[in-house]
Amino acid sequence: MAVKKPMTSFDESIGFVDFIDDFLKSENINADFKRTGRFRGALRPAHFDAMAAELEIFQKSCGVKGSVVARADQSAETGSRLFHGGVVYDMDGGLHPAKFHNGLIAKARALGVTIIANCPVTKVEKTGSNYTISTPYGTTLARKTAICTNAYTGAQFPELRRRVLPLRSAMIATDVIAPEVMTRLMPKSRVCGDSRRIVAYYRPSPDGKRILFGGRATGLKDNPAKNARQLHTAMTQVFPELKTTSITHVWSGLVAYTFDHAPHVGQIGGLHYAMGYCGSGVARATYFGQKMAYKMLGNTDQGRTAFDDLPFATKPLYKGDPWFMPAVLNWHRLADRLGL
Ligand SMILES: Cc1cc2nc3c(=O)[nH]c(=O)nc-3n(C[C@H](O)[C@H](O)[C@H](O)COP(=O)(O)OP(=O)(O)OC[C@H]3O[C@@H](n4cnc5c(N)ncnc54)[C@H](O)[C@@H]3O)c2cc1C
Repeated sequence: MAVKKPMTSFDESIGFVDFIDDFLKSENINADFKRTGRFRGALRPAHFDAMAAELEIFQKSCGVKGSVVARADQSAETGSRLFHGGVVYDMDGGLHPAKFHNGLIAKARALGVTIIANCPVTKVEKTGSNYTISTPYGTTLARKTAICTNAYTGAQFPELRRRVLPLRSAMIATDVIAPEVMTRLMPKSRVCGDSRRIVAYYRPSPDGKRILFGGRATGLKDNPAKNARQLHTAMTQVFPELKTTSITHVWSGLVAYTFDHAPHVGQIGGLHYAMGYCGSGVARATYFGQKMAYKMLGNTDQGRTAFDDLPFATKPLYKGDPWFMPAVLNWHRLADRLGL
């Protein structure tokens, strides 16, 4: 009799985009979701070899679908000449996050959920079998409490704060680009990334008229002018012909990294939590949110995940202030420039 291999957290994560696809359909939320596939360009020949070997391992071990794109064939994938080939991951895609967010809020409200914005929780205390939740506007009692504060986790939750590393991620939107240029630069309208250490990610806007280009910012504070400059430089490395294209929008927010690069869901001191999506929280946070909700309802079968067993690590002396991250990011920027 064949013994079924237990699902690992890696196997499970392959299904996150399927989950979003099914969820949007079953909840009837229109968020411009498209399964475009993802092109990842190799910045060096050695990166290409490593990416091709990695794809083969993923294909064999957990059925990831994708293909290797040799440099000679890459003009079918990208108008950039920066890359030494790359790989395509067929299962990935993109959506319009604001439409997704609005759709989720509308669904929750229709189910009778009260959402109170701009009302920070300042303390959570166990009182008998309940929790007393304090805010500047008053207190409330809860039977169950979930902390989903991700990179914004504050001093109220020190045991979680010391387990996540906040980093700022920023994006720019270009002005409208001529359709023939869009087709040349991004022929298959895929979401894209590359092999640099300092993550860069880009895609056509959902209406296909602009390029949205994102990456990590250096500091924790928002600095829109500096972020726009850095991202414009990164974008023109990929697409030199966009040098004179104006940037119309820049925005940013904090994303939460973890010491093991994995997202985490569980309980700490009786409080449920889900966080640490390492910059890829659109599908992950939605999936973990559902798992956490099942756990809170006592439905252990539906709430079970291979991520349950992952220890949520921290480091000695780290309390949630990532003072060392600008130096770490600058080192990775230098390593990218030196091709290390
Ligand atoms: C520029 C940018 C680009 C990104 N691009 C992608 C992408 O392409 N793909 C992808 O998958 N992910 C992307 N992400 C990451 C994704 O947005 C996050 O992973 C996701 O938003 C995490 O969701 P969340 O609900 O866990 O946390 P958040 O969306 O960070 O929400 C946490 C909330 O907790 C609130 N909060 C904090 N403390 C308190 C308190 N004491 N009381 C009450 N509320 C509190 C905060 O105000 C905040 O609203 C991007 C992020 C940024 C900033």
